Amino acid sequence: MEPYSVTLPRVNENGYYKMRLESIGGLGANLCGKLLGELGAEYLGLSAASFSSYGSEKRGSPVKAYVRWGAPGQAIRHNSPVEQPHLLALFHLALGQNLPVTAGVEEGCSVVVNTAAAPEDARRQLRLYGGTLCCVDAQRLAMETKSRVNMILLGALARASGFIPLEAVFALIRDTLGKKYPSQLERNLAGAKSGYGEVRQKYFAPDGAYPPVPYREPQGVWGWRTAPMGGVNPLPGNLVSNDLSASREGYLPLFLPEKCIHCGLCDSTCPDMVFQFLPGEYRGKPAMLNSGLDYHHCKGCMRCVDVCPTGALAAGLEREHPNPRWQRQNRDLAGEGPHYEAAGRVSRILCKR
Ligand code: SF4
Ligand code: SF4
Repeated sequence: MEPYSVTLPRVNENGYYKMRLESIGGLGANLCGKLLGELGAEYLGLSAASFSSYGSEKRGSPVKAYVRWGAPGQAIRHNSPVEQPHLLALFHLALGQNLPVTAGVEEGCSVVVNTAAAPEDARRQLRLYGGTLCCVDAQRLAMETKSRVNMILLGALARASGFIPLEAVFALIRDTLGKKYPSQLERNLAGAKSGYGEVRQKYFAPDGAYPPVPYREPQGVWGWRTAPMGGVNPLPGNLVSNDLSASREGYLPLFLPEKCIHCGLCDSTCPDMVFQFLPGEYRGKPAMLNSGLDYHHCKGCMRCVDVCPTGALAAGLEREHPNPRWQRQNRDLAGEGPHYEAAGRVSRILCKR
């Protein structure tokens, strides 16, 4: 196939057009980065390089993907993180609450963000310095098209770039995912198409409302000088500040207390600190009682729904349950240290030490 003919609209001093994807494990940013690398090299006739950076390969851990495109035949010899992207994708608006995901954004940058919010509101929440903000409700569109968030954002990135033809994205999806998952092909094409078509974008001049955020490589808080004696983690539950709500894909477990027999299977199965069991009495005997969920830590994997023997947990649509009555923040586990405040879609934690 002849590659599509494109001209890179902007490049840096090394001749690269640069992209950065900021995500949380489970939303498909790693795959999206690989696809963008392939898109440039195979379908747009450019030079391309891409790689991802992530910790443990599990849902909920931070993920970054970096892509560089250059002119045809140009050698790309840089393999460092993309610090000043021309195109930035944020796989969930909530990522901006605690992480410097907009670091390195300059006036000419286009920022694609997965949110139902309007660009003005999204800018305020992200404290975005400036640039073109492109909002797309990827979670809703993924559910409607039965696709995935990364397909929606792939289409939205093509639109936000201003030069990537949607047909090239379709060809890429057909040749890659279409061969691997043929039964999902139409859904993924529909997802990319809806992402392309439903971008709401607005340019914000750097008006001083928010300062630029310089890019910094994350530094470990604990090193050989600062780690607690014996390497002990003194916080009760080292996931206590870990907001996993951004990795949900539109579903969360609903708790029906009247059906619960407090067997604890959900707590044994849940990979994160979601269920809050407190001392109480069950059938006339002292017992630990399931008293609710802290959705701040829930990444929507639905394992608990699968194991619950009584149907006390059921899969629900997150957007229909913005303030579940079973929400129980796990301040009881945190002791005197962290302090919690309700915020965000369902809950948000602020650690103040
Ligand atoms: S698995 Fe179901 S019944 Fe058992 S404690 Fe959890 S919610 Fe209750
Ligand atoms: S869906 Fe259930 S098992 Fe999965 S993280 Fe949430 S509470 Fe835990």
